[in-house]
This record gives sequence, structure tokens and C-alpha cells, in this order.
Amino acid sequence: MSDNLGSPARPLRAAIIGAGPSGFYAAAAMLKEPNHKVTVDMFDRLIAQDGLVRYGVAPDHQNIKAVAKTYDRTAADPGFRYFGHVNFGTDITHDDLKRHYDVIFYAVGAQSDRKLGIPGEDVPNSLSATEFVAWYNGHPDFQHLDPDLSVESAIVVGVGNVAMDVARILAKSVDELKGTDITGYALAALSKSNVKDIYIVARRGPAQVKFTNAEVREMGHLEIADPIVLDSELRMDRASSAAIEGDTSMQKNLDYLRAYAEIGSRGKPRRVHFRFLLSPVEIIVENGKMVAVKMEKNELRPITGGDIKAVGTGQFETIPAGMILRSVGYKGTALPGVPYDSRSGVIPNEVGRIMDPATDKAVRGEYVVGWAKRGPTGVIGTNKPDSIESVNSMFEDLEQGKVAAAQDPNPDAIVALLKDRGVRFVTADEWRKLDAVEVQMGVATGKPRVKIVEPAEMLKLLD
Ligand code: NAP
Repeated sequence: MSDNLGSPARPLRAAIIGAGPSGFYAAAAMLKEPNHKVTVDMFDRLIAQDGLVRYGVAPDHQNIKAVAKTYDRTAADPGFRYFGHVNFGTDITHDDLKRHYDVIFYAVGAQSDRKLGIPGEDVPNSLSATEFVAWYNGHPDFQHLDPDLSVESAIVVGVGNVAMDVARILAKSVDELKGTDITGYALAALSKSNVKDIYIVARRGPAQVKFTNAEVREMGHLEIADPIVLDSELRMDRASSAAIEGDTSMQKNLDYLRAYAEIGSRGKPRRVHFRFLLSPVEIIVENGKMVAVKMEKNELRPITGGDIKAVGTGQFETIPAGMILRSVGYKGTALPGVPYDSRSGVIPNEVGRIMDPATDKAVRGEYVVGWAKRGPTGVIGTNKPDSIESVNSMFEDLEQGKVAAAQDPNPDAIVALLKDRGVRFVTADEWRKLDAVEVQMGVATGKPRVKIVEPAEMLKLLD
């Protein structure tokens, strides 16, 4: 243990795994703290920075993406270094990090998704919304997803904001999307789309939706698609009415849904149908292709603890569809050498301190932030106080002498190690260059940027 850790003579050496919002907020909180000197090395397996802001936020929501400017400022701090294109677990291990850093923060998000667990789920064109989002946003791992958009009808399962994003992208015209940073291949595929009916299907009722006001409002302003809501499905049971009393945001959602039910179709060529109290039970496949989804009708039942549950009625409805996007929540994945709770899908922690389930004690010097800490909830901004909370836990531990000094804190050691292993890491300066190229290409074509998708192409530009 070292007393002067965090002093100008011996800055605290912090590693952050993951260059998304929660990682950047943790970096900023450490670099800005006035009482301690910290240097931050951030690692990401991808070349590009910004995580979900680049690869998750919808391309037609550029105002949300503006937050990346704040991350750029953090990345420009002299105490910050970036190591992009470095895979935790193979290029660099948990043991390496322990040797070279006093503290480690995991900001890895929730990289997997939940399944429905119904027959037929593995048929082609049964995709997770996560994959579909990653595809149109140019995540290198999903560029070849190749969804079949020749179908006429698509079902989106779940009523969160991700469901709204994918439904809206399917519903929008090329004109509405061409001025965004959607990838060229996705725009080309969407321009040939035959999808006319998009069903957003909720297992519970309109009082239990997870989407927010702005997302449901947007559905009423689409150029070539009408939102369709069945008045009969907006009738509310007593428990639901009581549960949302005084909830202005939920009331506003309902106002929009009621207005859509009243207006009905205005004859636009595409339709976004909101359907409630339905759970998919089987994907019906004919000749290897999905043709419909069988749904069980639900009713709502209050349960102890105040929540309201969907219960199957034994009655069924079949919706013809050639595509299903399950949008039922993201899920974490385990990292080698790091505790993981597979039941909740998060890294077990107390106020950001990683807990070892074997001993029920905090793992010295290791912390977690963001979705890996609390699960896949909240908007981008939610991550700021969340990261600050974990960083404060770390500073508390530091002040109480609970942080052990790394064996080899020399900042050059990690660079030498990566070079020895032949890892072509990408620095913050290099990422800035790529970012500038993308923005420049965008200017030429009237878009915020043109994303370079292929990592090899990014490296070629740099080298
Ligand atoms: P979410 O908000 O948690 O929504 C998940 C949806 O899936 C819920 O409607 C849930 O219904 C449903 N669901 C779960 N299991 C199901 C099952 N087995 N069968 C049928 N339905 C099921 O998750 P998300 O949409 O993935 O979004 C993740 C987070 O990112 C959220 O906090 C969201 O607000 C945020 N986000 C924000 C924006 C934005 O600000 N524009 C955009 C995208 C995402 P129940 O309620 O019945 O469980």
C-alpha cells in the first residue's frame, strides 16, 4: 500500500475498459477531481470511441449524439490516453491490468440480448433489435447481418425506446434518413424495403409501456407511416389506472396513443401498429421462412409488491409477418477474471465496488460503472451520476488506504507490452484523425458524418 498514491509525484493509475458514455463519465470524474492526481488509460476492443452513442443511438437522433463532444474534451485531457482496438481478455488480460494499474473500472455495458425462448426463434429474419441497431449503425461485427426487408410485415417485441427506434427506422422514408449518419449499406437496403406493416407488440398494457414521450410523439410525424392504435386496447383496468395516477409522463404517453386511436389511418403507405396484451408463443415457419407469429392474449394481474403482471388467457391470435425483432432488453456478458452474476446479467457490486461472490468482500481496486453495474436501464445522461458514484467509492477507498499500488505503474510499460504482443492499438490522436475524415466525408454529402465501418479500412487510412 502506498500513501502518496494520487499525488502529483505518484499519480493514481486508472484503467477503464470500455469507451462508451459510462467510461467517459468515469474518466472525467477522475481527471477533474481536485484533491488527487489521476492518469487514465482507456481501452476498447473497437477502434472508434463513444460506444452506444456511436453504435446504439438512432441515426435520426443526432441531438443525442452531440454529447460525444463532452467525451472529446475528456479525451483531450493530458492525463488521458486511449488504446482502441485492444481486446480485453486476449490482447490484454486482467493480470496485465492488475500489474500496471492501481485501479480498474469496467465500463463494458451490456453486450448481449435476451431471448424469447419460443419455438422458431432461430429461423432467418428472427433477429434481436440489438443486432439490427448495430447493423444500421455500422458496428463492424454486424455489418453483414443482411436482414431480409423484402417482407411486407415485421413484428417488434417489447415497448421500450429500442423497440421504438427500430420500428421508426423501418417506417421512415429514404428522404427522412439520408441526411443522418446511417450507414450507406443500411440506407441502400432500406430504400428497397417492402415492409409496410410494423407491429410493436407489448405483453402488458398501455399503462406499462417503457418508451418515453418524445419517441411516441415522433410516430405521429412520420412522412410515409401512420401510427395505428386500437381504441379497444386502450381501456384500462383498475390497477393500471391507479398505478399511473399522477405520473405525468405516462399520462402524456397515453394522450398520444389515444390521439392516434382517434385519428386512425391517414392513408400513408406504411403503418406502425401498437398492439397490447400479446405475448409471442411461436414463430410459424413455412419452407424455412417465417410467415407469422402466434401470440397468446394476456390479461393483467396485480402482484404483491405493487407490480402488474401479464398472464396468458389461453386465447390466441396470429399476426402474419416475415420478420421479428425482439427488443426485450440487453444483457451483460462475463469478462475473463471478473466476477459476474449471470442471473441479473451484471458485475456484482456495492456502490460500484466489485464484490467477490466467493468471499462476499470487495475486490481491491476494481470498480464497475454503467449498464455493467446497474443493468440496461436509463438514458445516456443517467450514466453520469452513476459513474461519479463509483468514482467516489474509489476515492473513499483510496483515502482509507484500501487501494494497493500497482507493481509496475510506469505508463510506458503498457505501451511496450502491447507492442511486444503485436497489438496495433489506436491512440486518441489517431481516433481524432479518423473522426475528422468521417465528418469531412459527411460535409461533402450533407450528412453529419459518413461512418467508416471496416476496422481494416480505418487502419489503412492511419497507416
Ligand atoms: P426497456 O426499456 O427495458 O424495454 C424492454 C421491453 O421489453 C419492455 O417493454 C418489456 O416489457 C419487454 N419485455 C421484456 N421481456 C419480455 C418478454 N419476455 N416478452 C415480451 N416483452 C418483454 O429496454 P430497451 O428498450 O432495450 O432500452 C434499454 C434502455 O435504453 C432503456 O432505459 C431505454 O430508455 C434506453 N434507450 C433510450 C433511448 C432514447 O433516449 N431515445 C433510445 C434507446 C434506448 P415489460 O415491461 O412487461 O417487462
